[in-house]
Amino acid sequence: MNLSLNDRVAVVTGASRGIGRAIAIALAGSGATVAVVASKIGNAEATAAAITEAGGKAIAFGCDVSSPSEITALADAIVAAFGRVDVLVNNAGVTRDGLLMRMSESDWDTVVDTNLKGAFLLVKAFSRQLLRSPCGRVINIASVIGQNGNAGQANYAASKGGLIAFTKSVSKEIGSRGVTANAVAPGFIATDMTDLLTPEQRDAMVKGTSLGRAGTPNDVANVVLWLASDLASYVTGQVITVDGGLRI
Ligand code: NAP
Repeated sequence: MNLSLNDRVAVVTGASRGIGRAIAIALAGSGATVAVVASKIGNAEATAAAITEAGGKAIAFGCDVSSPSEITALADAIVAAFGRVDVLVNNAGVTRDGLLMRMSESDWDTVVDTNLKGAFLLVKAFSRQLLRSPCGRVINIASVIGQNGNAGQANYAASKGGLIAFTKSVSKEIGSRGVTANAVAPGFIATDMTDLLTPEQRDAMVKGTSLGRAGTPNDVANVVLWLASDLASYVTGQVITVDGGLRI
């Protein structure tokens, strides 16, 4: 038993940058063949190139995860290219922050459709492949905001809280076939997404951690790698918080 993912195929959404890019690189580094997905194929290509230049196996795909028709086309293309899918990492996510009274319906819909409906559509699209795999894994990237809520992020909190409940339901539906489903809930990770915060907001988040620092994309990717591996084959329906102690 080890972290080897040799002969496995992993799909990672939102892999053009930030946490998703680190996850794609970590899984490929352990031997997985990775479908690197971003909303546009051009955005995914740099991550796929970094993997192949390091000796790994990856192909870039473009897919807006909020679009059912694009997900159907993505699933067809990935199955045609690799013939199987063992690990699905639903990482693509967006924020459209604003106080509830001023939040537009379209900002609500964009966040929920990308962060929550996208995960539903992808699990559904790949369910046959995951159930056929001897080591199927669904790993959904949630957030501590989905556990605690946050003023100014009602749409994001609802999408991530929903993603946690969705993950638990998926684990119950597919567990009898040996497929696990877990959520990872990052705290404050330094990426383009958190660059949108003010310096004061960032300082407050760092001060709230026990470890006194922001997380890195690799801090999250390491936990995803463990969940994808045989080492975590009896872990399912869980939310693993990766937040440097922010939430305690
Ligand atoms: P990021 O740097 O903003 O990257 C977001 C990724 O999602 C990009 O690869 C982007 O691809 C992709 N994406 C966005 N909308 C998409 C769509 N409709 N279809 C396909 N791909 C789409 O964000 P991040 O900080 O790495 O966050 C990654 C995940 O972790 C998100 O789910 C986020 O909610 C979660 N998270 C982050 C933090 C944090 O502190 N950073 C904390 C908790 C949870 P394009 O290149 O195509 O734009």
